[in-house]
Amino acid sequence: MILMLKKNTTHPEAEQLLQRLISMGFNAVKEQKGDRIAIAIVSGIDTNTKESEFSRLPNVESVETFSETFKLAGREFRDQPLVIDVRGKKIGGDAICVMAGPCSIESEAQIHRIAESVKAAGADFLRGGAFKPRTSPYDFQGLGEEGVYYIRDAAHKNDMVSVSEVMDIEQLEIALGNIDILQIGARNMQNYSLLKAIGKTRTPVMLKRGFAATYREFLMAAEYILNAGNPNVILCERGIRTYESYTRNTLDIGAVPVLKELSHLPIIIDPSHGTGIRNMVAPMSRAAIAAGADGIMVEVHYDPDRSYSDAQQAISCESFSEMMPSLFAIRAAIMK
Ligand code: PEP
Ligand code: MN
Repeated sequence: MILMLKKNTTHPEAEQLLQRLISMGFNAVKEQKGDRIAIAIVSGIDTNTKESEFSRLPNVESVETFSETFKLAGREFRDQPLVIDVRGKKIGGDAICVMAGPCSIESEAQIHRIAESVKAAGADFLRGGAFKPRTSPYDFQGLGEEGVYYIRDAAHKNDMVSVSEVMDIEQLEIALGNIDILQIGARNMQNYSLLKAIGKTRTPVMLKRGFAATYREFLMAAEYILNAGNPNVILCERGIRTYESYTRNTLDIGAVPVLKELSHLPIIIDPSHGTGIRNMVAPMSRAAIAAGADGIMVEVHYDPDRSYSDAQQAISCESFSEMMPSLFAIRAAIMK
């Protein structure tokens, strides 16, 4: 339910009402909606609580019901597109967020070398995996904790924001305070315990769409994080499973306009996992920006064929820097 407060309600009055609702056992949040303050009650409403009981509360002008199940991820309560600011670098809004780096952090020297190169090409976000979700247990599993420190240092040395995946709560504890943006991979999109645990932090999260998740399931996964108290969620479309086997996945660029319409959360595209094919990364990155994505996440390596993981989709540092100006040009063209 959304309680729209009267126009002249002050912030202390709204806060008092919010605290009253929380003490009554409701999970409620407050938001400025145009010239009004609104309070969303997202859970804790027992079926006997009638709308009329809420409309009698002080300063409540009207009571609306949610029509979507993703109450906090949707646009009914929060309509303004979310802009997340991580140490001055923005995700959402006017800027394009470019996350680049190797699939796996392979050594301290490797991540520093790639960080310098992608930063010089214009990327502000350094992405690399320390904990790797691999299809085969015999494949490289990542450097683990050591990798977390390497990417943290490489990012900060180059004035970049670090992005890295955690697959469980133990890894989350290692990453917290070291990694700026936590990635939840496609395989864990519906790992509800992990979503709830990340929801209890305020660290921004890049949530990747599961291979077989619908848009609504994707937004409900985001809802778990928001509902637990963390508003800083970035959606990432990374391709879905279809009958097409030529590409690793089928990149669903259509996710951009749909999720922009349904949600206020920023959305980025991962053309690397979305296609699995190096030569498709630049064209699909351009398509992503043309479709209105807030950014991209790409796998880059100075020696792509020798990458420890996902070598076929890694692009070289040179290809990355060649591609970058076209993204800004496309963005400028669609902003006109
Ligand atoms: C990754 O980003 O390196 C990764 C494993 O992605 P996904 O979870 O989308 O497969
Ligand atoms: Mn990868």
